Amino acid sequence: MSAPVTLEKIIALCKRRGLVYQSADIYGGLNGAYDFGPMGALLKQNIRAEWSRAMRNASDEIVFFEGSILGPHAVWEASGHVAGFHDPMVDCLNCQHRFRADHIDLEKACANCGLKKWTEVRQFNLMFQTNVGAAANQTSVAYLRPETAQAIFINFKNIMSSSRVKIPFGIAQMGKAFRNEITPRQFLFRTREFEQMEIEWFCRGENALQTFDWWCEQRRKFYEALGIKMENIRFRAHEKDELAHYSTCCTDVEYQFPFGWKELEGIAYRGDYDLSQHSKFSGKDLSVFDEASSTSYVPHVVECSVGLDRLFITLLFDAYCEDQVDGEERVVLKLHPRVAPIKAAFLPLIKKLNEPVDKIYQQLRHEFSIQFDDSGSIGKRYRRQDEIGTPLCFTYDFDSEATNTVTVRHRDTTTQERINIDQIANYIRKQCA
Ligand code: ATP
Repeated sequence: MSAPVTLEKIIALCKRRGLVYQSADIYGGLNGAYDFGPMGALLKQNIRAEWSRAMRNASDEIVFFEGSILGPHAVWEASGHVAGFHDPMVDCLNCQHRFRADHIDLEKACANCGLKKWTEVRQFNLMFQTNVGAAANQTSVAYLRPETAQAIFINFKNIMSSSRVKIPFGIAQMGKAFRNEITPRQFLFRTREFEQMEIEWFCRGENALQTFDWWCEQRRKFYEALGIKMENIRFRAHEKDELAHYSTCCTDVEYQFPFGWKELEGIAYRGDYDLSQHSKFSGKDLSVFDEASSTSYVPHVVECSVGLDRLFITLLFDAYCEDQVDGEERVVLKLHPRVAPIKAAFLPLIKKLNEPVDKIYQQLRHEFSIQFDDSGSIGKRYRRQDEIGTPLCFTYDFDSEATNTVTVRHRDTTTQERINIDQIANYIRKQCA
């Protein structure tokens, strides 16, 4: 039995193995922002690739898109974010500690100093505001986007008229979003700068509910294919009072973190709210003409929105294991091979054998994300690879030259077998597909 995984263990592993660092670490850190190290950057790339692949597999009626991060006031006014994207906050008058008012009990004392002296609850807008251009005035106000979706809605007509797509179809986007969270918490779970992966699916209103169910199924398959333990995933339909006023159904994909069941992804039927709002505020017609019935209508939208950073720590929590190998404790990340940052490591048993191993490594490094490692004992090198989730380790030993073989060691079981050197590429392809 593996000991329970904790947030502290994940944070320590991330730093030790170059997955994630506190942003601006050497200057004392910037709260709610993180930097991704060499292994973290690869893991993120792989997650993005899997999400894109899931989109392509779901339907060939999905196009990709990248909107700008800066957006003018008008966009965020139309979307409702200027007026309504608030969280309630409260400060302790004694120690100045700040809290999300809806996350604490105001009848109780401050968890930081033990006194009960609260300010009034105030609404705090989560958007980062800036000014575009040299003169800061009313018309120069812009925002860092708090979600990626709006850029899709305001480009709906551009995309329809330039891509030969027809309703129903989807627009998929990955990119950064920014929210000035009052209390960023739980490492990558709630940050001020994060990445979202969103699909907005445009359809006729009468087909939306069926489409909503279909998307829930697609997203379930995505998490299954990533190898996440499905007992840690649940789909929770929102109660009526949780729904946004324009939404008639919304389901959160939740994961069982050590700090409880929390939202990983939101799947929402948004009606025609977004396109209608942007039509109204911009004065541009965003309806679609239906030739069969010779009528125009505003398409309805089903959205699936997942945070890349949240999925990143979800995968780490889900994959983290501690076990014993040859009487020694080891930490192993049992990541799905497709998302593992490094697919295989190439290890000469001793440094004298470096040359032939380097030759194999040089031949394969263009096709696969692999490492050559000759430093430290072989056991130490295996542990290093286990901790970053490398599925395969190929070791070149004293028999290798004569037999044209290497041993291959499997991360999860630590079992080993001998295979022919000419078979290595095929072996990796098969194991990591
Ligand atoms: P929460 O209730 O946790 O604040 P939300 O309901 O406001 O989330 P959405 O606006 O639905 O979140 O955003 C879609 C997804 O973006 C979320 O499911 C989550 O994965 C991710 N996300 C949202 N806010 C953050 C954040 N501050 N840090 C990291 N990821 C986030």
